[in-house]
Amino acid sequence: MKTYDYEKLNGEFESKSSEDLIRWAAQEFNPDLAMSTSFGAESAVLLHLVTQIHPAIPVLFTNTGFHFKETLAHRDRLVKQLNLNLRELKPEIPTEEFLAKNGKLYERDPDSCCAQNKIAPFEKALKDYKAWITGIRHNQAVTRRTAQFVENYRDKLVKVNPLLNWTSKMLWDYAKKYNLPYHPLWEKGYLSIGCSPESCTRPVQLGEDPRAGRWAGKNKVECGLHTFLKTEEQEPVAKP
Ligand code: SF4
Repeated sequence: MKTYDYEKLNGEFESKSSEDLIRWAAQEFNPDLAMSTSFGAESAVLLHLVTQIHPAIPVLFTNTGFHFKETLAHRDRLVKQLNLNLRELKPEIPTEEFLAKNGKLYERDPDSCCAQNKIAPFEKALKDYKAWITGIRHNQAVTRRTAQFVENYRDKLVKVNPLLNWTSKMLWDYAKKYNLPYHPLWEKGYLSIGCSPESCTRPVQLGEDPRAGRWAGKNKVECGLHTFLKTEEQEPVAKP
């Protein structure tokens, strides 16, 4: 993996636009650059922003088998509207088999469920790339406040976060400007949308952190891709 002066790069991108960062990533890493999406509440903005600059970028989506039907409909709509080069990733064990073997693991041990159904297929796909664009933002959750524009991801590849300083208002203004569709569940109070079990995603109340509805009451706000993850059944997938 090529070495970068991350401190210098992040200092430079502090005063540049999200588009500048995406352009840099496209020049630096193409064709070994991918982006990820969850087709969640705010995903349309990053998808539009990136594909305006790099239309053919592979768009990685992990279909855990537990998504809301509304998320899959949102996926289909955005793929068509933005002509996305979608690369859909699936867990090794098909959902029905997984449920038969593990029951409601997402209630008993969501870290283990995420590790098997989300992180394992995603990390396997990341091996094909040198850099990865994500949509994480500082004000989504405390776990994301220290993220940088450009980061070393577990000594495997470079992670690029062009929306770090965006607020929800900026996202919605952008979506309105470009007539981008919003997730159908957003109107029902789902500000951060993951898998459909109630223990994994619930609507957010007024004044709550946007990710407060994810794994509520489980002392977990991340699937583990953007943070440290430890499960009962596996060793930690990364250092803190
Ligand atoms: S969000 Fe829930 S159902 Fe989806 S992989 Fe994680 S624990 Fe499993």
